[in-house]
Parts: sequence; C-alpha cells; structure tokens
Amino acid sequence: MTSKPLPHLTATGTCWCGCATKVGAGSFFAPGHDKVAEAALLAADYGASIAQLLHGHGYGPGHSVTARAVRAGVWEKCPSCTYVGAPASIRNHAKKAHPTQP
Ligand SMILES: [Zn+2]
Ligand SMILES: [Zn+2]
Repeated sequence: MTSKPLPHLTATGTCWCGCATKVGAGSFFAPGHDKVAEAALLAADYGASIAQLLHGHGYGPGHSVTARAVRAGVWEKCPSCTYVGAPASIRNHAKKAHPTQP
C-alpha cells in the first residue's frame, strides 16, 4: 500500500494559517505559523485531543497509525527493535539505541 495521492498545493504568498502575513514565494507559512495552524485545527475540530484526531481518521489502538505510515512507505521500522519513524528518525534512533561496536 502506498500513501494516498494528495492534491498539489501552491504557495500563494500569504500565510496559510490565515493571519494575512505576506510570505516569500514558495513558502506556505510565516516562521512558526505552521505549528499555530496545526494547533488551531486540532483545537477547533478535535477538542485539542490527538486521540480525537486519530479516531476521526479511523485510527486507534486497534488500527495503528504508525503501522499505516510504514505501509505507506513514508516511515520505516527499525531492523533491530519495534521502533518506527521517519527515515531520519530511524537513523538517529539506531545510532543511540543500537550503537555498532567499533
Ligand atoms: Zn500566519
Ligand atoms: Zn531499534
């Protein structure tokens, strides 16, 4: 399974958090405003609860969102343990959790 196709978005020169700040070409957000928008969406639509967010997308204890990310090919599983994460996180994790002997 691969990740679902996402629509192509075009940066418009105005911050997408809705604050009307002008941003450079190619940017969707003024610095830090991506986190503001994320928190606002979570608060407005999911009661600021990640559990509600997951449930709203059909995920939960019996339907693992992290396993979904691995199946979609955007996350990986650590070859040495059950840790999953983005490829860069896996590399960081492996360095700390499974240091190779010199
Ligand atoms: Zn903004
Ligand atoms: Zn590991």
